Amino acid sequence: MRRRPFVAANWKMNGTVHAVADYAAAWPDPPPGIDVVFCPPWAYLDRLAAALRGGGVRFGVQTTAVEAAGAFTGEHAAEMARDLGAEFAIVGHSERRRLYAETDAVVVEKFLAARRAGLTPIVCVGETLEERRDGKAVGVVLAQLDAIDAGAGPAAWEDVVIAYEPVWAIGTGETATPAQAQEMHAVIRDYLARRSSALPRETRILYGGSVNAANADDLFAQADIDGGLVGGASLDAGEFAGICRAAAQQS
Ligand code: PEP
Repeated sequence: MRRRPFVAANWKMNGTVHAVADYAAAWPDPPPGIDVVFCPPWAYLDRLAAALRGGGVRFGVQTTAVEAAGAFTGEHAAEMARDLGAEFAIVGHSERRRLYAETDAVVVEKFLAARRAGLTPIVCVGETLEERRDGKAVGVVLAQLDAIDAGAGPAAWEDVVIAYEPVWAIGTGETATPAQAQEMHAVIRDYLARRSSALPRETRILYGGSVNAANADDLFAQADIDGGLVGGASLDAGEFAGICRAAAQQS
């Protein structure tokens, strides 16, 4: 049985008030049978949600603070995302790990913060090019999953979305081949199977890394790829809608 396809837009730090309005005007209602989640910058979350309200899409944030409230200048709590109507939080994105020194320990803290606030974590895992060339890709991904497992316990894998995002494919235009992606997705599903017999069939595992409307069909047709986490291509409403249509073909 195929899982319900899931496509998430990670706008990263892009957007303006005008761009949000233009996007909303160009965005068609998504096809039925899939989950579509927008993760705009915090600054535009409310505005985008208002513009797309009633359009069958859901919302998430790209990162949260670890803490729930208090003297943490510049931070945004997971509870605030929930308050704004978000349902998801991206956790452990490679740009956060690399540019903001988010270690596995911090990723676990953010995972738990999302959970406490009632947000579903979208957990990102993936290897660098060097790690892949050294034959360490599987080990790196499993270690990232192990960190969550150790920090959050077996319940970690209930109500979670996982995104396999090879670092070398993010924003580079170089996509993993469908076979490369499927291979790692099967490894991840097998990992989940060893944690709970019920979950691996249900958990959505997304591929992320230069997905676009032209390559989405082949990626999403793989047995263990349940959709995508989309960066650059999600900034164009027409392109992102094409990716959603490709996902819907698998539902
Ligand atoms: C991402 O940021 O999660 C991502 C996959 O980016 P892109 O689609 O641009 O490679």
